[in-house]
Amino acid sequence: MGTVRRYTHPARLQPLWDAIVSIRNQRQVPNRERIAAFMKRKSPGELPTLDETLRLAIQDNCVYTKTSKGHKGVKAGVEQESYRAPDSDLEGDGHDWYCFECHENGDVILCSTCHRVYHRVCLKEEFLEAEVFSCPVCAVKNLLQIQVEEDDVWRQSYLCFRKMDLTIMEAKAKEQEYQSLEDVVGAVHNPLADLARQMLRDCLYDIAEIRLCSDCYRMSNEKADKHWFCQPCDPPHELVYAKQKGFPFWPAKVLRIHENMYDVRFFGGYHER
Ligand SMILES: [Zn+2]
Ligand SMILES: [Zn+2]
Ligand SMILES: [Zn+2]
Repeated sequence: MGTVRRYTHPARLQPLWDAIVSIRNQRQVPNRERIAAFMKRKSPGELPTLDETLRLAIQDNCVYTKTSKGHKGVKAGVEQESYRAPDSDLEGDGHDWYCFECHENGDVILCSTCHRVYHRVCLKEEFLEAEVFSCPVCAVKNLLQIQVEEDDVWRQSYLCFRKMDLTIMEAKAKEQEYQSLEDVVGAVHNPLADLARQMLRDCLYDIAEIRLCSDCYRMSNEKADKHWFCQPCDPPHELVYAKQKGFPFWPAKVLRIHENMYDVRFFGGYHER
């Protein structure tokens, strides 16, 4: 019933394009060998999946193959297969390529009333039961459909408690008008606010980090001195020797204990947070 609109994961496509474009800019032919060398330097994590990504990206028409002759060195005049990124905008067909809920590739179903597409697993059962699929955003949008014509601006005031958009939110944030998390969450109730939903997810992630330890959060973001990770929090974390599979016992601080499971952050080396 579904259809695959994109085989390649969006996060894999971008480093591949970066490689091809950069190699082309150096006036060289982007063959597999050069792309692999570029990835090894810039995105080592993508290297093991390179062949798979190339195959999928070609299937998606996001990368093209080209047979060309080398200009330089031992490859001069020798025919070789190489890769190209698209050089013009893609003509859309009215639907998105990635799931609106998780933003990933794969088998999706298309909303009959808007451009959005969804993985089945990303939808609640009630949406899958309908004969013609109309997505969660459309469902709420129809509920709150407001025809705002010049002379009927009053309608908006009867249906929406308060007009809200990101510009207004930014201004309010600058004026320090938000006192609690609920003030912000309320703004995202508007289903049209796609951007706001993404922002909410990012904020909730950060809030979870802050709840874990506000000192750790502040210090990991400020990184005021290079020993920020060693600064004690208030109250300080318990220090332990912990062990991760495949690694020796190592000093760490305990961020939280949940049913005998210890969430720890290890000392030494490089820290994100
Ligand atoms: Zn999804
Ligand atoms: Zn829709
Ligand atoms: Zn802490």
